[in-house]
Amino acid sequence: MTGLIYQMNELNKIAGSFASTKRMPALFLGHGSPMNAIEENEFVTGFRAISKTLPTPNAILCISAHWETKGNFVTAMKSPTTIHDFGGFPKALYEVQYPAPGSPSLALTTQALVKKTAIELDEKWGLDHGAWSVIKHLYPAANIPIIQMSLDYTKDPSYHYALAKEIAALRDKGILIIGSGNMVHNLGLLAWDKLNTIGYGYDWAIEASDTMKKLILNGDHQPLINYKQLGQSFQLAIPSPEHYLPLLYILALQTKGEKISLFNDKAIAGSLTMTSVKIEQA
Ligand code: ZN
Repeated sequence: MTGLIYQMNELNKIAGSFASTKRMPALFLGHGSPMNAIEENEFVTGFRAISKTLPTPNAILCISAHWETKGNFVTAMKSPTTIHDFGGFPKALYEVQYPAPGSPSLALTTQALVKKTAIELDEKWGLDHGAWSVIKHLYPAANIPIIQMSLDYTKDPSYHYALAKEIAALRDKGILIIGSGNMVHNLGLLAWDKLNTIGYGYDWAIEASDTMKKLILNGDHQPLINYKQLGQSFQLAIPSPEHYLPLLYILALQTKGEKISLFNDKAIAGSLTMTSVKIEQA
């Protein structure tokens, strides 16, 4: 960690290193199966299409469902490795490399921005598939620096929502904030005979998804934060919080008057939805 200890004036210099920009959009991406990294399907087409609507970011900060820690960390290495954090997939998926640079300066900027909790600098993680399997479709040239911010698994949803508000100012520095998860995500109840059936969702999955979308489009975030009180369909849709929480990070970034829209809005394999969200200035 010694290489990451900077003098305060150095930190201030780095924190100022991102020029002010028009407010960047923010995205929640439903990532689904890791195979989306190498397959061609309508979700991948959707990721490519949305990237065409974005200004080129200075860097990306990604909150992935697949990095849970005790305490909060941001990756701070210059060259994050591509982590193949899954099992039982074809060799071709393990061969994917996404060599985007890291951004120690964005890690330090993020650390300096958050006041309510300590953000620690990490040099061991890298890019997990929650990040690279989708970001590779947005930026196939791997030329935009990326950091990841971990999910503190000891905290409740309101903590995550409040933490996201503390990093909102990054959007005015050309930083694209991406949450990567799935709104409805119950791997234990996957329809194994319909793994690739796009549009196939169980009744409870569709019910939870419809309620989520209505609340999202109405800007009604409090029930989404208190999702455990939304009944049985939500208990089935969110059996564990890690794929849902990245959505709360993105919703928390929405400012008054900003437009919110959905894309890749389909269920798959019964118990997953790929529904993705874009927030942008109207
Ligand atoms: Zn996942």
